Order: sequence, then C-alpha cells, then structure tokens
Amino acid sequence: MNGSEPLSQLKLIPYAEFLKQGRLVAFPTETVYGLGASAWNPEAVAQIFAVKGRPNDNPLIVHVNSIDMVKEFAETIPPRARLLMQKFWPGPLTLIFKKKAGVLDAITAGLETVAIRMPDHPTALSLIELTGALVAPSANKSGRPSPTKASHVTEDFGSSIPVIDGGECQLGLESTVLDITVNPPLILRPGYISAAQIHHHCGFIPQEHNESKSENATEAPKSPGMKYSHYAPKARVYWLYDVDMGDSSDRRGFFSAGKNDLIITHTPKGAENIKAGRKRIHYHGDYARMARELYDWFRKADHDNHTGIGIEAFPKDIESISSGEPAGALINRISKAAGVR
Ligand code: AMP
Ligand code: MG
Repeated sequence: MNGSEPLSQLKLIPYAEFLKQGRLVAFPTETVYGLGASAWNPEAVAQIFAVKGRPNDNPLIVHVNSIDMVKEFAETIPPRARLLMQKFWPGPLTLIFKKKAGVLDAITAGLETVAIRMPDHPTALSLIELTGALVAPSANKSGRPSPTKASHVTEDFGSSIPVIDGGECQLGLESTVLDITVNPPLILRPGYISAAQIHHHCGFIPQEHNESKSENATEAPKSPGMKYSHYAPKARVYWLYDVDMGDSSDRRGFFSAGKNDLIITHTPKGAENIKAGRKRIHYHGDYARMARELYDWFRKADHDNHTGIGIEAFPKDIESISSGEPAGALINRISKAAGVR
C-alpha cells in the first residue's frame, strides 16, 4: 500500500507470537492503525481498554480475514450481509451482526450485537491469518486523533506497544459502521463507503443516523462510541465561511481566522480567500488526499504550536461532490473535532 511493501509472513511471526501470548500490537490497515489484541483472550481485550483509556461502554470492532471467521462471532449471516461483504470486503465497511453466544462481553460492551470488518491491507490480513481474529480499535489514546502513521502510535504510547510499520494509511479515516440487524440498515458512523455507494451496489437505501437527535433521546445510543468526543487535536478546530459568522466558537468568517492558525481549504474560492504569509494547505477538490492527511495535520498543528485550525466549510449541497469522495466522513470527523470545546 502506498508504495510501502507489505511485510512478509516471516517478519510477522514475532508479532503474531506476542498477540497469541495476550500482548498488544499495533498494525496498519487501510483506514487507520489498529491496536490489536486476540479476540478470544479476555485479559488482552481488557488491556486495550486500559492502555487507551477507553470507556468500557464503547465496544470494539472484530477484524477478520475470511467469512468463516465471521461465523465464529455472528449468530447468523443474513443474505444482505453476504451481498455487502461480497461488494465491499475487504474494505472500510464495518457490519453489525447479532452476536453468537461466547463472544466476550468486553468486546460488545454487553450488547447483543457485534461489529466485524475485513481490513483491506495485506499486512493486516496476513497477521490475522497467523493469530486468528483480532479486536482492533484505533491505536491512539482515547480522545486523540486516530493514527495514520506508525510514528503517531509511538507518539501516544511510547515504546510500550510494538508497532508494525506499514507507512501512511491509504484512506486515513475510520470505517463506515452499518447496522444490518435493523431494517432498513442504519449507518451509525459515516465513512468512506457512503449510503449512495451501498444503494448503487446493493439496491437498498440505508438510513443515516441522526446523532443530534439520538443525543436527546432517552433510549440507549445505537452506537455507543459515537457519543464520545473523538479526533480532537489540542488546537481549536473551527469551520471557515465566506461571510462573517459573528462570535461563534466553531465557525468564523475567513477574515477573522486567527493569524497563527493552520488553514485548510478545498475549493478554488477557499484558496483565494487565504492570502500568502500564513500556514495554509489547499486541497483543490482532492477529498481523498484531504481525508488521508487530516489527522496528520491535527497532530502537526499541535507540534507547531498553532492555536487553531480553520477548515473551509463544505457547501450545503454536498451532492455536488461526486460519490466515492469521503466528504460526508470528513464533515463528520471535523464537526466532532470542532464540537469538542
Ligand atoms: P473505533 O474502533 O475506535 O474506531 O470505534 C469503533 C466504533 O464501532 C465505535 O463507534 C463503536 O461504538 C462502534 N461499535 C462497535 N461495536 C458496536 C456494536 N455492537 N453496535 C454498535 N456500534 C458498535
Ligand atoms: Mg477510535
């Protein structure tokens, strides 16, 4: 991936042994680096929550390399799931199944469902071949941006966690999470795979989860992890608009962007709005690259002591951005980072 060769199975053996002994190992996937633990080892799974500082009610995604492995965790595989797996796996789509008896409660946070995905990365797939299924949340301390490079993992955990270096992750944003235990299926977390792509390839239209609505609801949140603030650098993240936005903490007009802030634009108009002499990155409509680099900029901004990160707001009508672009996922992650303070 990305020019860096996948590690041979031979080189992965020591890491696999570590995992089989119940230790944690970080490894690359196409989305972000995962913090892996054997899915059948309760102590190893408990370690994940401990080292990340992850709340116990935030369930983990099981990573597999075959449909047979899905059967170890899912009670049944509905026809719709087969179709989705056929079209999108290996890839950045996590499916929520009814869980099979025996799946560790810590993985599912006590829910009756389990989240499963097959990563599209040769190193991850070979590792799972050696170890069996791995649970693997993003390999960052809870609340920090997800790691898209091996160095990000070391930044959060020092040398205490071995990291398999696979270079920069190709996609850079976490997977789409789709609940197929409900009808119609429900997107719990937007990602690279959009509702439009699912509709196009599988013939049904998934519902899109309205987070703000569910936050006020009395029922338990459908995707417990989504209630936590994620993806946040120390610098204040805010949206940049063409017009004066008054005194809002998460949105500003281009002209009131902080002088020492890092500015990220993605349209020609946005690039024009920001004059030379300040730190700026222009993506000119390359949303795939913007997604790949976003979390790296979040971390770099902190290293370079930027107090803020201003990101050009997306047009309301994001339909104008072609399907297959991760605009929806970008908006979701940036809004979360901006909503933190
Ligand atoms: P992370 O591994 O940090 O990318 O987070 C995993 C995401 O998957 C979180 O948002 C979890 O809430 C979600 N998730 C995992 N298992 C389930 C489940 N059984 N039901 C709903 N959401 C889940
Ligand atoms: Mg995470």
